[in-house]
Amino acid sequence: MILPPSAHQLGELVMYYSKYNIVVGKGEGEKDGVGAWAVMNPLTGAFDLAAEDEVRKLEAMKAGRYPWPDDAEADSFVAYLIERGYLFSDVREEDALVEEKEAEFQAELAASPAQILLIPTYGCNLACKYCFQKGMDHRPALIEPEVVDAFFAHIDRKFAGEEVKPFITLFGGEPLIASRPQKEIISYIAGQAREKGYELAVVTNGYDLMEYLDILGTARIKEIQVTVDGPAAVHDTRRFTKAGKGTWERIMAGVDGAVRRGMPINFRVVVDRENLKSLVELASLVDEKGWLDLGPERFKTQLGRNYELFECYATPDHLLSQVDLWRSVVELSRKHPVLARFHRPEFKGIKHLVDTGEMYLASFDTCPAFKKEWVYDLYGGIYGCTASCGRDEYRVGTFYPESVEDEKGITEWQERNVLHIPECRDCEVSLICGGGCGVVAREKHGSVLSPDCRPIKELLSLGLDYYGDSIAALGGD
Ligand code: SF4
Ligand code: SF4
Repeated sequence: MILPPSAHQLGELVMYYSKYNIVVGKGEGEKDGVGAWAVMNPLTGAFDLAAEDEVRKLEAMKAGRYPWPDDAEADSFVAYLIERGYLFSDVREEDALVEEKEAEFQAELAASPAQILLIPTYGCNLACKYCFQKGMDHRPALIEPEVVDAFFAHIDRKFAGEEVKPFITLFGGEPLIASRPQKEIISYIAGQAREKGYELAVVTNGYDLMEYLDILGTARIKEIQVTVDGPAAVHDTRRFTKAGKGTWERIMAGVDGAVRRGMPINFRVVVDRENLKSLVELASLVDEKGWLDLGPERFKTQLGRNYELFECYATPDHLLSQVDLWRSVVELSRKHPVLARFHRPEFKGIKHLVDTGEMYLASFDTCPAFKKEWVYDLYGGIYGCTASCGRDEYRVGTFYPESVEDEKGITEWQERNVLHIPECRDCEVSLICGGGCGVVAREKHGSVLSPDCRPIKELLSLGLDYYGDSIAALGGD
């Protein structure tokens, strides 16, 4: 423990200003008064509201100029910063804590279930106008029973030592197409999952969900993720069948059926400029159905941006940056409280802080590829995640017809974290950012061990603004 230094000592003591201190101002509005700024340190878990003059002092400290001889309160301010975990006696003390927190992070990771995605087909029954899989193989082939058997044999072996049983997520293409052969094989997979004790999740466009409810009802369903892009008039101009037919009615009926059976829903909206405003109407429709009263265990929502990893977005002008998306959501939610009820934004841990009074554990890595996420496809390939599945250059092995894995390739991904990416090592927001997406980083810089920077401070700033009153109610620190 560090004791607050005496006034005399302060003048000589060299204190170390933590490289993980983050100072952010509210996104908008007044910048004076306590609460207009926040200082936090994701390594120590400290979070405090601050006033403008305190921020100036922190900036001075960061630049190595402290304490201030004429300031009678300098001692107590510095003592407070030490006690809260913004100043260390030296860099070694910080390094020791980094080591400790990384071990905690790894332990927490080990205690969370791995997600094993299975792609039974790359084919799809819709032709959404922004589909990120446009550049991919759309052969309508379907996984064979012997490949399913090889899949279960492989994961039973590979994940036998995990602390918690992994869960399986059906992904595609579209895993739930209501053709007879596809229903048969999905039914077989659901039965095998149940028999072998795996929970099952599904990522579906929802068009044939209704017709799969009985089959899914035979498994332990962890979650069904369905994408709805707005009220019918908006959704149907974005997510339609290959024949151009709207899909809203059928999808909503499927969601309704799943909700009635108690299957947890993850209701996802892909948002861009085109459908942003219609979020309000969609939120009202969902609210009228009573789904928002079910609680996040049974009904959660997700606002996603479409991403341009490998193919150009059909209408790039409509793409929103992460910051633009959330700024717009904040504005709309203020005017329309139903949207605030529909979705409570995370803002990089600010929501968690409001809900629990604590910051998230330092996050050394936010890319789960080959750690907590694995993708197996119908051709026997093994990939790290949904952003790279089906791409030869990202395949690291096969589970069928033979089991082969590129250990070196996998290790490179597994080692990816902010302590191993040179650019991230001294980044103040690294323990919130976690280094971003490995696929985006590799596409941009040619290496997995490179950064995919995220606008962390801007998002924290929006969060401070959005949850300002709730944060102030936490206790006034
Ligand atoms: S590479 Fe990107 S998309 Fe894939 S798991 Fe990592 S963060 Fe997610
Ligand atoms: S990816 Fe960029 S923003 Fe994220 S931790 Fe690394 S350097 Fe910082």
